[in-house]
Amino acid sequence: MTVVDRQEWDVVVVGAGGAGLRAAIEARERGARTAVICKSLFGKAHTVMAEGGIAAAMGNANAGDNWQVHFRDTMRGGKFLNQWRMAELHAQEAPDRVWELETWGALFDRTKDGRISQRNFGGHEYPRLAHVGDRTGLELIRTLQQKIVALQQEDFEETGDYESRLKVFQECTVTRVLKEGSQVSGVFGYERESGRFFVLEAPAVVIATGGIGKSFKVTSNSWEYTGDGHALALLAGAPLLNMEFVQFHPTGMVWPPSVKGILVTESVRGDGGVLRNSEGKRFMFDYIPDVFKEKYAESEDEGDRWYEDPDNNRRPPELLPRDEVARAINSEVKAGRGSPHGGVFLDVSTRMPAEVIRRRLPSMYHQFKELADVDITAEAMEVGPTCHYVMGGIAVDSDTAAARGVPGLYAAGEVAGGMHGSNRLGGNSLSDLLVFGRRAGRHAAEYATGLSADRPPVDDTQIDTAAAEALRPFSAEGLEPAGGPPENPYTLHQELQQNMHDLVGIIRREAEMRQALEKLADLRVRARRAGVEGHRQFNPGWHLALDLRNMLLVSECVARAALERTESRGGHTREDHPAMDREWRRVNLLCRLTDPTGGLAATDPVRGQIDLTRETTEPVRPDLLALFDKEELVKYLAEEELYE
Ligand code: FAD
Repeated sequence: MTVVDRQEWDVVVVGAGGAGLRAAIEARERGARTAVICKSLFGKAHTVMAEGGIAAAMGNANAGDNWQVHFRDTMRGGKFLNQWRMAELHAQEAPDRVWELETWGALFDRTKDGRISQRNFGGHEYPRLAHVGDRTGLELIRTLQQKIVALQQEDFEETGDYESRLKVFQECTVTRVLKEGSQVSGVFGYERESGRFFVLEAPAVVIATGGIGKSFKVTSNSWEYTGDGHALALLAGAPLLNMEFVQFHPTGMVWPPSVKGILVTESVRGDGGVLRNSEGKRFMFDYIPDVFKEKYAESEDEGDRWYEDPDNNRRPPELLPRDEVARAINSEVKAGRGSPHGGVFLDVSTRMPAEVIRRRLPSMYHQFKELADVDITAEAMEVGPTCHYVMGGIAVDSDTAAARGVPGLYAAGEVAGGMHGSNRLGGNSLSDLLVFGRRAGRHAAEYATGLSADRPPVDDTQIDTAAAEALRPFSAEGLEPAGGPPENPYTLHQELQQNMHDLVGIIRREAEMRQALEKLADLRVRARRAGVEGHRQFNPGWHLALDLRNMLLVSECVARAALERTESRGGHTREDHPAMDREWRRVNLLCRLTDPTGGLAATDPVRGQIDLTRETTEPVRPDLLALFDKEELVKYLAEEELYE
């Protein structure tokens, strides 16, 4: 039997970004002893990178805004494939979550009359993003961390131990969710620094691990985004929903190489930045799709007037939803009208005085000046699509955030699917983290405390299996399939990223996706021989070898679902099926692990590890449909739905 450190908790939260921290605070406030685990240092989650702001219909900048308008924008942005109940809860609860942050110490930028300032963003009808310059995510995490420390101080007063009810395990990676029968019993993981294994026993686990961007070559995501939570859920028997929808943010830097992929926040366009091709043309006016024609300006003059007088003019097409802008850039580059390094030009320097740019976009200014010697107050940036966000994720119950089919498992934040449909609007992630993080924490705590003495025990053989799986890269010489030398995890990772970039990227074709699946099968076999040298103490090669399992699993989900969905919608564009098909609005695609025992070794490399099934989407509630004009619904809903 493997000897590991073991501790008992009520709720374990995997991930300390916005979703994880909000879940942990809620679980602890509802009386559950709560542990939080994160791969990086506490406070360094991906959420910190969020720049533009948090979307909430507070109506501070335009009194016309309310939750119904926000709901409508979110559904339009997601092309009506959103789990509508999540979109409803999100729009209704986001303002309270922003106010709550202020009561916990966040300091948002203000309007002249002292209210929380809100800025424009793509796809949002009104200025809606509460922000702190372009460092909103940092303020959000700082505030949640401060709240956690405050709760720990309360606990110290009562118990003499700061960590008696809420403890953070930083620089620790979870590799397996443990189960007893169908129920969650805890998690298995390792400390990155020492390499020591540990088990946290708990009947409720909230997965809040973020996204999958590191499976792609050009990405705005940091090293942590290796799809761990998606894979943990699959391995625990929970399905993933609509994994074909991956958002390519239109404006990642393409040049110079030192900043390739790094995000240029949408606020640059929200504040007046424009996109031009190599001929100097503002090309977005040529790419307004029919479904959005009535809402966007027809001329540059009208678009420019909108910044001063939004009530009497329509917004410029640079502020279309991200999928539309990313596809337009891609088309311009393909047509030979791109910038020298394969992007287009994003210019804010000729649109605003330098000191305004430095005040409104301080991080953008400093980051590019320092990392790339690009002065955004004086020259245009070269930008192009970068893999940014995954809309697909763990299939959850809208109200409780419970993962489907695995009692005790919950998911919130980017790792959960459904909320954003086929395309997320900017700013809707930070609000999603808080709304559903809170809900996940609450329901996980209620579930755990409700079980009282009947907690599922941890099965020792599962610990042995998890430990053997984690140690496998140290004995790659003797591994199946025999004959070859150990594989270098870095090489495998590069090949995986290139494969996903080239064959399952922003524009997809059937033959290429089939080729991608063959390559993934090959990589999967080779990854079983991924070998590392050295020992378990801080060994990044070993960590990557373990992460590869997760990236290969999620990549296969993305490729299989993308091949299956024969239409173009949101973050999924098929060159061979370029139109959105109303019949496909009724279809969700679910990915499950082929081998329900979770033993990957048994899977057939050609057939793959993922089973794909279709399910019919739940009809949208009539009172929510009534928020839209009938002419608009005709563009999205299937005939039978309209009839009903
Ligand atoms: P994260 O914040 O990434 O946290 C994930 C946590 O899980 C981390 O603590 C990580 O260490 C941990 N973890 C992962 N795997 C494991 C494991 N195996 N074991 C233990 N711990 C693990 N959205 C907006 O709404 N507005 C914006 O302005 C905005 N700007 C953005 C700018 C950039 C550059 C990027 C990349 C994204 C932006 N987004 C924005 C998107 C948004 O930031 C993310 O979707 C969101 O922060 C995800 O939060 P999360 O809590 O789900 O995950």
